[in-house]
Amino acid sequence: MQVQGLRIGIGHDTHRLGPGGPLRIGGVTIDFDHHLIGHSDSDVLLHAVTDALLGAAALGDIGELFPDTAAENAGRDSGELLRLAYARVRDAGFTCLNLDCIVFAQRPKLGPFKRTIAARIAELLELDADRIGVKAKTGELVGPVGRGEAIQAECVALLYRAGAED
Ligand code: MG
Repeated sequence: MQVQGLRIGIGHDTHRLGPGGPLRIGGVTIDFDHHLIGHSDSDVLLHAVTDALLGAAALGDIGELFPDTAAENAGRDSGELLRLAYARVRDAGFTCLNLDCIVFAQRPKLGPFKRTIAARIAELLELDADRIGVKAKTGELVGPVGRGEAIQAECVALLYRAGAED
């Protein structure tokens, strides 16, 4: 089995919820009575995906590339941040083979949006949607997720670099 050139990365993110919608998760706008609070558009899943890709290529993290102290990043579309980060990953010679993601939200139920979210992430990365796994979990009514105070996301990314000797 040929395994040279494979790199794995992990990303995790948390954002607090505040009153008033809509929600923005995985590049998809979801009708809901709360939104995620943060400096950019606070898309918790796209931030986790971005960090997983950057981590797999050892290119730092989303906070280094797009500081939350920079005015230009205020309210910024996280899909744009993901595309820019993945361009750096591609420039380093890597291609994403697949992603596996989990979103942790007590409400709303995200099951009906999983396919749409996967399709949007695939579009942003110019990959086939069958390379993007999206799972939705609740917080089982405990902790900040379970109490509806926050939404979290995790992502694992596998990259491939052709011709790599390592
Ligand atoms: Mg974030």
